Amino acid sequence: MNYEHLKKEDPEVYELIQKEAGRQKEGLEMIPSESYASAAVLEATGSILNNKYAENYPGRRYYGGCVNVDLVERLCQKRAKEAFGLGDNYHVNVQPYSGSPANLAVYVGLLNLGDTIMALRLDHGGHLTHGNPANLSAKAFKFVHYEVNAKTETLDYDAIEKLAFEHKPKLIVSGFTSYPRIIDFKRMHEIAKSIGAISMVDMSHISGLIIGGVHPSPFPFTDVVMTTTHKTLRGPRGAMIFCKKEYKEQIDKGVFPGMQGGPHEHTIAGIAVALKESMTPEFKEYTEQIIKNTKALAESLMEEGLKLISGGSDNHLLMIDLRPFGPGRGIFIEKALEAAEISVNKQPIPNDPSPPFYPSGIRLGTPAVTSRGMKEQEMQKAGKLIARIVKEFALTEMPLDREKRASAVKEFAASLENHPTIKEVKSQVIALASKFSVPGVD
Ligand SMILES: *Cc1c(COP(=O)(O)O)cnc(C)c1O
Repeated sequence: MNYEHLKKEDPEVYELIQKEAGRQKEGLEMIPSESYASAAVLEATGSILNNKYAENYPGRRYYGGCVNVDLVERLCQKRAKEAFGLGDNYHVNVQPYSGSPANLAVYVGLLNLGDTIMALRLDHGGHLTHGNPANLSAKAFKFVHYEVNAKTETLDYDAIEKLAFEHKPKLIVSGFTSYPRIIDFKRMHEIAKSIGAISMVDMSHISGLIIGGVHPSPFPFTDVVMTTTHKTLRGPRGAMIFCKKEYKEQIDKGVFPGMQGGPHEHTIAGIAVALKESMTPEFKEYTEQIIKNTKALAESLMEEGLKLISGGSDNHLLMIDLRPFGPGRGIFIEKALEAAEISVNKQPIPNDPSPPFYPSGIRLGTPAVTSRGMKEQEMQKAGKLIARIVKEFALTEMPLDREKRASAVKEFAASLENHPTIKEVKSQVIALASKFSVPGVD
């Protein structure tokens, strides 16, 4: 990208962007919700469409001068339906600002405040907006949470069905933030229908995998499907809501005026570009490689003796279970890996003995490194480097006394400076990453 104006006018912001570009290139980006948007996506998102107000929907805006943005939005809608192979029985709204407001727009559009919604617990892999007590969703609606099976750490559909019969929710949500296995969307839909509930899939993490055909699609049966556009899909930060025609009016009203004002037409243009890219053979290859890479990474970690939640992965992410080392060690590993230029996130795992800010898991994903062209061989190497860090640094004890935890983390972070293992792993990470260019950054 050419930032010549920014460089002249605001060197401070320019410098920070340059630094972040360096960070995105130098290390391994292994946060599963991240990937690299292409330069074309970034150009559309950074375009003058930013300047236009266009409240309401194409053809019935509250503002004049919407002729071009109407066409942009309609093109985006057309491509969204094409990418998922949808016909006239589905509608798509491409205006949500991001995944969180999109989920709230669905709830607000379809339900009455206080209605019951069923979703997966946050610490078992659900999202904040799936009824976490700290989120507006839980304050405005009554949530009943299902769990993963304690032994298999995968969804137990019979147990979900039983819970649904017991609580009769109006809406059942599947699709998660931290679940490494295939989801049986068909079964989830059937459970919803058996009690007269609306089925909803939040495919934020896996929408790219679904377009690529490497994860079963929630279409053509699911009633409402939400996705963010910036995860495996590689678009700008935004979201889309698909729904069967019968819910069109409620969903559109839920988004505008229910949750939002003017849509971000520059983002919608960026989504349109990402959708066009998603229908190419290269994109399909990228999604197939994501699956192969995650499997290779999982194998590499398990060969090193590490335990993975559910024993592996079918998709783009996996979770290391750090409980064998002791509770609450996730934050140490996140910090140690960050010091070695591997970006991951600490993650609550099913039946975590430790609270969410000091969880006992680490979540890793391959979409970003796959976008750089890395393959199984690189994942094998990355797995060995990650395992080395885990085995050395997960031995650090997390104090049981809550008051002492923050200072323990601080002390730990300071101990990483000039640590010989970190230095050695970091130089190998940089050597590995430097062989691959970065889409949209290089
Ligand atoms: C990322 C995510 C969201 C929220 O997206 P934001 O754009 O961060 O608000 C919603 N649901 C799921 C399952 C997600 O993974």
